[in-house]
Amino acid sequence: MRVSKLVFPTALTLLFTGLAACAHEPARTAVSLIITGGTVITEDDSRRILDHAAVVIDNDVIVAIDTADAVAARYTARDTIDASGQLVMPGLINTHGHAAMVLYRGLGSDLALMDWLNNYIFPAEAKTVSPEMVRVGTSLAALEMIESGTTTFTDMYYFESDVADATKASGLRAVLGESVIKFPVADAKTPEEGLARAEAFIQKWQHDPLITPAVAPHAPYTLEPETLQAVRALANKYDVPMLIHLAETQDEIKQIDERFHMSPTKPLESLGVWNGKSLGAHGVWVNDEDMEILAKRGVGLSHNPESNMKLASGVAPVQKWLDHGIHAGLGTDGAASNNDLDMFEAIRQASFLQKLASNDPRAMPASLAIELATRRGAEALGMLDKIGSLEVGKQADVITISLASARQTPLYEPLGQIAFATHGDDVQNTIVAGRVLMRNRQVQTLKSADVIRDARAMADKVREAIK
Ligand SMILES: [Zn+2]
Repeated sequence: MRVSKLVFPTALTLLFTGLAACAHEPARTAVSLIITGGTVITEDDSRRILDHAAVVIDNDVIVAIDTADAVAARYTARDTIDASGQLVMPGLINTHGHAAMVLYRGLGSDLALMDWLNNYIFPAEAKTVSPEMVRVGTSLAALEMIESGTTTFTDMYYFESDVADATKASGLRAVLGESVIKFPVADAKTPEEGLARAEAFIQKWQHDPLITPAVAPHAPYTLEPETLQAVRALANKYDVPMLIHLAETQDEIKQIDERFHMSPTKPLESLGVWNGKSLGAHGVWVNDEDMEILAKRGVGLSHNPESNMKLASGVAPVQKWLDHGIHAGLGTDGAASNNDLDMFEAIRQASFLQKLASNDPRAMPASLAIELATRRGAEALGMLDKIGSLEVGKQADVITISLASARQTPLYEPLGQIAFATHGDDVQNTIVAGRVLMRNRQVQTLKSADVIRDARAMADKVREAIK
């Protein structure tokens, strides 16, 4: 009895002390990751930019964005990234490319398009595209993208299930399209085989949280009408996107005009090919009627300024796309025609190209070019509800940018700095779905040295192929 009499008041006292402490300091919510202290560029509906702010992440989702002090009072995290002196923004979204083609980077420079394709790219592809090649190439591309702040990429290539395996290992988010084309290619002798391969690929990956499988008919001029319709039916059967090259060069316009007496967008409209989730790459030579169709059908367009300039394809009328209400994003295209996957360069060149072409330095301002690489790109891919901005409830795809270098000094306007001064290697941390893929420039998910060694070994085979 003596003992319990002593114990009882002691326990009560402890309880009271605890409650009193709680009244002053409410229990903090435990979360997985806090990125704190940086200037947060949200790209939300009101485009808020918050100084000395924090992004709170639990598992794969953003659960709060507030001042660093307010977050410190309310949350405790298992992991913290100190982003003091850095910019924090949504991860960049690359809406068009061919990841594994990084292995053809720098193959044949300064050549006429047909010379380059026929004597370098096609022979190299014919002899080297294989499941192993796309794994090695996609891993190299993923490493480059993580290092330069891309968190979602779009792919149109072959052996896409192997692309997906390599992407999954890297931790990146991606929309991956299995190619369908009328010529025999590495993974399909006929378009029918390509369609069957695409269906098996979609079935395998359709429920993955990070991989969105898609079907990628190469272009209007490399497919027969029936195949294009079969592709649409397949995409709609599984409610997945269709990715296609569209109106890239004047040569393509000429070919389609000779056959159908119209621009490439229109035969696809009459075939019903736009009736479903669709993304067209390039759209350099679309006219007003085409743009009306694309807007009406909700077709997204991917602008690839660097590829368009390097291959002298032309200047895409991006402002006109937007005036028509078309959802537009930004892309690098494959590294063979760029020659890198740095989306900050795509942002910069998108802006410069429109300024130069329109003879107006106010064209394509920094804010708009950044939107194309973030929230508008997400919209073009039909993913704005999940990614493209830093907002509570969205997926935690976040990057931080160091401002410590000479190139980043001084800083007056964050958006102008991102668009016109920032390079991919200024990115310090890359986070996808709440997982840190790169921390203080150290990629966590891939062994950089191994990826580069394997890519160099594969390049020896490419050298042999074009001898
Ligand atoms: Zn392309």
